[in-house]
Amino acid sequence: MRGAGAGVSEVLAASAVAGRVDAFQRALLSWFWRERRELPWRGVGDPYATWVSEIMLQQTQVVTVVDYFQRWMARFPDVAALAAANEEEVLEQWSGLGYYRRARFLHRAAKVIVEEHGGELPSTLEGLRTLPGVGPYTAGAIASIAFGLPAPIVDGNVIRVFARLFAIEGDPRSTANQKSFWGLAEALVDPQNPGDFNEALMELGARVCTPRSPACLLCPVREFCAGFASGEPEALPEVARRSAVKPMRAVAVVVTRQGRRGKELLVGPRDAGGLLAGMLEFPTVEREGKRWPKLDEVASLLGMKVVAEEVGELTHVFSHRRLLTRIFAAEVGSEATFADERWRWVPERELSQAAISALTRKIYERSKQLETT
Ligand code: SF4
Repeated sequence: MRGAGAGVSEVLAASAVAGRVDAFQRALLSWFWRERRELPWRGVGDPYATWVSEIMLQQTQVVTVVDYFQRWMARFPDVAALAAANEEEVLEQWSGLGYYRRARFLHRAAKVIVEEHGGELPSTLEGLRTLPGVGPYTAGAIASIAFGLPAPIVDGNVIRVFARLFAIEGDPRSTANQKSFWGLAEALVDPQNPGDFNEALMELGARVCTPRSPACLLCPVREFCAGFASGEPEALPEVARRSAVKPMRAVAVVVTRQGRRGKELLVGPRDAGGLLAGMLEFPTVEREGKRWPKLDEVASLLGMKVVAEEVGELTHVFSHRRLLTRIFAAEVGSEATFADERWRWVPERELSQAAISALTRKIYERSKQLETT
């Protein structure tokens, strides 16, 4: 378990929680037990389900995750089923959730669990941390929620709640502040109900102690809160400066043919590397900066020249990149072959189930719209 951060005892001693940790835990837990949402991964007593839900919930909202989680559990009900699947199936199930690295880590970790842990998730923090893609947050969540260990967790919601409760100033991502947040989480977690306590903290941050307008009058721990006492709780945590967004340019060609299965589209796996590695996309050349790639560069990807017509342009914003894509459309004969074997034809009606990224979906939608105008 992580050691308490420097100054945590001072922060606690100077707060309204000092000497009243039990009362703080009781107030938070009674609220949680009264108000918690029924969610398909809660109370199921299955560490695999906890793990999947926690990975899905990183960077994705609860309402979106519910459906994905249920479909995922129906398709991969346990670690063995996930380990036995191929990557394309895994990415297909994840398609639309974004941040595909999470799905690849789940898949790789499932294989490790089957090969090295007899198919059971490790039940200690240290064991969990050895799995691909399992960092301190996920390990703490699984350890506390699924195995009842008094492990701390810190996510964006917990940071916001703690920054306000304990008036922690400065960049919340700084090493010193991260130490404080983890130290506080460790000092406050209720050893009798660690999973519920951690979920309660996150739920408080998601539903009550929200970024712009915290509902302090409904907050079960208001009497302990320095932010509330200051009259300006939303001033904390300090907003970190965003790093500059990099421009990128791409050219994508939506190649179609009339095949045996009706209209078909040409797709291939994106080159390794980057967040979307392995996802299927239309033939695309993309580069950093504001210089447009040439259509000929896409032709050399395909190993043949295609007659393509420009049909539009769209903008897609990733976390730190703003990508402008010029979209071209080309129809080829039903016997067309390509030098590179990675390209394959997908019937148009099956495209929505294929492992395509949100960007590829947008490009497809845009090319469809223009077809009908
Ligand atoms: S009192 Fe307000 S600022 Fe403090 S934890 Fe509750 S909701 Fe957040």
